[in-house]
Amino acid sequence: MGKIKKIGVLTSGGDAPGMNAAIRAVTRTAIYNNLEVIGIRHGYQGLINANFKPLHAHSVSDIIQRGGTILKTARCEAFKTPEGRLSAYNNLKEAQIDGVVVIGGDGSFTGARIFNEEYDIPFVGVPGTIDNDIYGTDYTIGYDTALNTVVQAVDKIRDTASAHNRMFFIEVMGAEAGFIALYSGIATGAEAIIIPEIKGQARNLKEMIESGNTRKKSSNIIIVAEGDEEGGAFAIAEKVKEDFKDYDIRVTVLGHLQRGGSPSAIDRVNASRLGHAAVEALLDDQKSVMVGLIHDEISLVPFAKAVKLHKNVNMALVEIARILSV
Ligand code: ADP
Repeated sequence: MGKIKKIGVLTSGGDAPGMNAAIRAVTRTAIYNNLEVIGIRHGYQGLINANFKPLHAHSVSDIIQRGGTILKTARCEAFKTPEGRLSAYNNLKEAQIDGVVVIGGDGSFTGARIFNEEYDIPFVGVPGTIDNDIYGTDYTIGYDTALNTVVQAVDKIRDTASAHNRMFFIEVMGAEAGFIALYSGIATGAEAIIIPEIKGQARNLKEMIESGNTRKKSSNIIIVAEGDEEGGAFAIAEKVKEDFKDYDIRVTVLGHLQRGGSPSAIDRVNASRLGHAAVEALLDDQKSVMVGLIHDEISLVPFAKAVKLHKNVNMALVEIARILSV
């Protein structure tokens, strides 16, 4: 028998649809391997408060299709302090938890990496964030659902924009990465896409409008990632309004609706694979690693690499978006 007999699972940081499917996969894979499973509530705060509850096979019934996370998530400043992490360690020891699966984003993995430098209880990560911006995996849980939510919303806005000959600036999530903006922009035939990875796009926008292309169209959709250098869709729309007073310009910020909803089939399947792989990794004595998917195969990436290196958007797609929007 291996030394892992009891594992904990938690969700941390920003929530993403499909986290429940991952919790289910972790729980059932662990039980299949004769491990006990403890659900840790409210992310790292639950480690510090010993907010633990045993999970059984039936505890995760009927959740694969639900958005959010049954374990709740949280941001926890105390885990950034040595004292907070010591309490977390003491609580894990007392509950005899031998390993922890962390479902979250790069902030959560930074916390897990630091904890594993200090203490010997292995942490393994599952990438869960709608932004898809984690290095070492082609895919993060929640991205596919969020992307489809955005596409549906933009299609609806396109209908009303066409009816009135309006220009719409639509802000989507992506504080540091333009994956949702770029993919939703291509999928909805947006006239322009503004993402943090490319500088000077607001200036190009002016050129595009001046070139007259926009005047020939009955509607103009411009997708803006929230983390763009100009300060978001409202700021860019204000500038354009100053330069083009005769345009009927509107702004929509999609906001938190992008985080909710029933996960897509892709998110459910990938969350199931990643959750399963995380338990296998713990059983293989891995620690301080994230499980990812590269070319549809499971990969293991050290936390240090996953959080430090930057995942770039595919510049070929930026070019395609530009060509197709003329
Ligand atoms: P995400 O995991 O979605 O990127 P956050 O960046 O908010 O979300 O991080 C989630 C939690 O991870 C934080 O609230 C904190 O508890 C923990 N964390 C983040 N950075 C650190 C750090 N430098 N040291 C310890 N814990 C951290």
